[in-house]
Amino acid sequence: MLPRRSTIPVRVRNVTVGGGHPVVVQSMTNTDTADAAGTAQQVLDLFRAGSEIVRITVNNKEAAAAVPELRARLDDAGADVPLCGDFHYNGHVLLRAFPDCADALDKYRINPGNVGKGPQHDQNFATMIECAKDHQKPVRIGVNAGSLDQAVLARLMDQNAAAGSPKTAEQILLDAMVTSAVESAEAAVGLGLPEDRIVISCKISKVQQLIAVYRQLADTTRHALHLGLTEAGMGAKGIVASTAALGVLLQEGIGDTIRVSLTPRPGEPRTEEVRVAQQILQSMDIRPFLPQVTACPGCGRTTSTLFQELAQDIEKFLAARMPVWKAHTPQAAELQVAVMGCVVNGPGESKAAHIGISLPGTGEAPRAPVYVDGEHVTTLQGPEMAREFQQIIEDYVARMGEGSAAASSR
Ligand code: SF4
Repeated sequence: MLPRRSTIPVRVRNVTVGGGHPVVVQSMTNTDTADAAGTAQQVLDLFRAGSEIVRITVNNKEAAAAVPELRARLDDAGADVPLCGDFHYNGHVLLRAFPDCADALDKYRINPGNVGKGPQHDQNFATMIECAKDHQKPVRIGVNAGSLDQAVLARLMDQNAAAGSPKTAEQILLDAMVTSAVESAEAAVGLGLPEDRIVISCKISKVQQLIAVYRQLADTTRHALHLGLTEAGMGAKGIVASTAALGVLLQEGIGDTIRVSLTPRPGEPRTEEVRVAQQILQSMDIRPFLPQVTACPGCGRTTSTLFQELAQDIEKFLAARMPVWKAHTPQAAELQVAVMGCVVNGPGESKAAHIGISLPGTGEAPRAPVYVDGEHVTTLQGPEMAREFQQIIEDYVARMGEGSAAASSR
């Protein structure tokens, strides 16, 4: 696991964020929270996909009133997933008016740019921090470039105008985001909220700006950091932009919890953002979630679809089996399986994986050598090839489980 920068750990229900703990995957619902049944179903979907904290919007009285029922539905379904309430404009009112909601939530997201203006700002912010103290909950000070505290921005612009060597408008924006987050965290501590109940985020939608703002943030504070490229967008654009931004920061040890803010295409499951977040962490060897399939891209040497079909079958098989293996052989998540298209790179990649199969390319003999831990163990052919290869994987995982059981009994 890549080491994280040293941050103060924050307990959120049954999950610890920061302090060197594994990077936590988060997600957010897009249902109307007032619809407790519909929201519970989406939270369950996200939780079952692997989301370890789920954020829900709490934007009005109806939503706040529905949160206890939502929690009860999740508990009934056996889903001990932490819920973070996302508040803007009226969080101070809702948290006070709906104490059962304040109690049922496991964390409050406070946007310091959306808690009121002038004297109301500090008063409303203080009310939310008092609620967090009363209910013993952590908060996320969640700054967003699109709703930045304008008073902080104006103050920094004035200071910049008076400075001998003024900074660019972009640098002032990033400075203002960091200042808003850090000063808000300091204010929360000043109001009596313990340091180990504060997570910070500073989200912005441009990759280079996100990298710059989080580097600055990580150099300024020891609070645990929630990382995410806000409004990343749809499909490949959203995935690539999020991966580019988060990859650089995670590599530098920055980020204790992540969310990938994908816009689902119509009909696309909300759980896609969880899968992408997990894949970012796993691809970087930060945290394993699912056995990985190494598959070559195919080329003119693979004129049949056999190779793509087998790679897809194996990927589905591994995803379906991992929840079962997790109970007794969690290390199966680190399994590397290679499915290769021909003899050029097939045997080499297959030997480098835990288990690999090198399929016949065009013009090659219709046989597929299988390698286990670098050794050629068998050669498959015929219509049962996929099933036989799956059995080899199943047997390998069983041996992994026996190995760890024997080690733990010693
Ligand atoms: S391993 Fe073979 S089929 Fe796959 S990309 Fe390389 S040459 Fe093409």
